Amino acid sequence: MKNHGNGKEFARQKAKEVLNAYRIPRCSNRDLLERIIEAFSIQFLQWEHFHNSVCGMLLSYHDKFYIVVNKLHPDTRRLFTIAHELGHFFLHTTLNKPYHLYLEQPGKYSAECAQANCFAANLLMPRKQVYELTESGYTIQQMADYFQVSYSAMLLRLRKLKIALSQPQDEHNYIQIP
Ligand SMILES: [Zn+2]
Repeated sequence: MKNHGNGKEFARQKAKEVLNAYRIPRCSNRDLLERIIEAFSIQFLQWEHFHNSVCGMLLSYHDKFYIVVNKLHPDTRRLFTIAHELGHFFLHTTLNKPYHLYLEQPGKYSAECAQANCFAANLLMPRKQVYELTESGYTIQQMADYFQVSYSAMLLRLRKLKIALSQPQDEHNYIQIP
């Protein structure tokens, strides 16, 4: 599939479409990703033999798609990797191509990966919901827990949305949460 004009805007739109189609009320991000994977008959695997720096990959062979994530990575990172690979799936793959391979490894960060990241961030941390939680006084860590993402992914999302939290004590809250 070709990029339509602004690649990031296209990724945001696609994430919105997917959310509208697959998110159900009180559905966690983990459940959401499972629903999408199931809906598109994608095979999901976890593998412990990747190099630690490799997050995972999207692989297709004769229209059969596989998402493989690094089993040794923390939950939050694995979840983000799945969302990133779904970004490649929705934005960059076409049927009838004999195979695709997107291996997430350091130094191989491409414009397509930047677009997949934008998709993942918008899928897991939708702008509207981030604003709502901010309004409700959530700390960064509470938001990260809510969306099942890492603290740093949450922080990056808030910066991208230009949300400045008026909570200088947030670092302390972060430490207090068991
Ligand atoms: Zn990628």
